[in-house]
Amino acid sequence: MISVNIKQSDKNKMSTENQESIEKNHRHKKRMQRKKEIIDAAIEASDKTKGLLLVLTGNGKGKSSSAFGMVARSLGHGMKVGVCQFIKARTDTGEEAFFSSHENCDWHVLGDGFTWNTQDRTQDIATSEKGWDVAKSMLTDPSYDLVVLDELTYLLSYKYLDADDVLDDIQNKVLAQHVVVTGRSAIDELVEIADTVSEIADIKHAYRDGIQAQNGIDL
Ligand code: ATP
Ligand code: MG
Repeated sequence: MISVNIKQSDKNKMSTENQESIEKNHRHKKRMQRKKEIIDAAIEASDKTKGLLLVLTGNGKGKSSSAFGMVARSLGHGMKVGVCQFIKARTDTGEEAFFSSHENCDWHVLGDGFTWNTQDRTQDIATSEKGWDVAKSMLTDPSYDLVVLDELTYLLSYKYLDADDVLDDIQNKVLAQHVVVTGRSAIDELVEIADTVSEIADIKHAYRDGIQAQNGIDL
């Protein structure tokens, strides 16, 4: 007979892991229930269209520029748009110059720059939390028809923000509002609750031929 000796410390670890997995499953179930409630409510209110959650992810170029394409479309329809740019600190991009002067577009640059530049996790977390407060105020404001959360995925994959809290906030958004999230490595839980998800593949990028970022193309 094979006898298995499990140390008490390992048993404790296993029970903590088990507990975490039960909690995770419970949160997942609640999230899916919430999604079903939202969909059912949207079907019921047949005169209204349900707001969509879109995720644009992958390593190829075109995620943020696709989101800004939807900003242009929405503004063209007279809709009100909010844009939150996480991570990025620069305020000299063509998109900001163009869209932030539009009366129906509120544009917020909420980052300190890339993690390898800030090199300060505590600061990155504080900045992310402050930024998320701005995003949350848009998600609960019915005057916004479209909210773009540009580069949000990094705040979740680096665990700067609590993923459960963020996903709950997104699911509790104004029902008719559309939300677009961009950034590489979207976490599975975000993909799961989204309505439309595109993964842009990196086939080639001029940067690897030594070509610097170009105005109008990259910024
Ligand atoms: P864009 O804003 O051009 O749509 P993106 O949102 O898909 O790009 P990001 O990861 O946010 O991609 O990249 C921001 C900047 O990095 C842009 O200047 C973009 O051209 C450049 N970039 C995007 N993908 C790549 C890549 N695979 N290799 C090198 N540079 C890239
Ligand atoms: Mg981008």
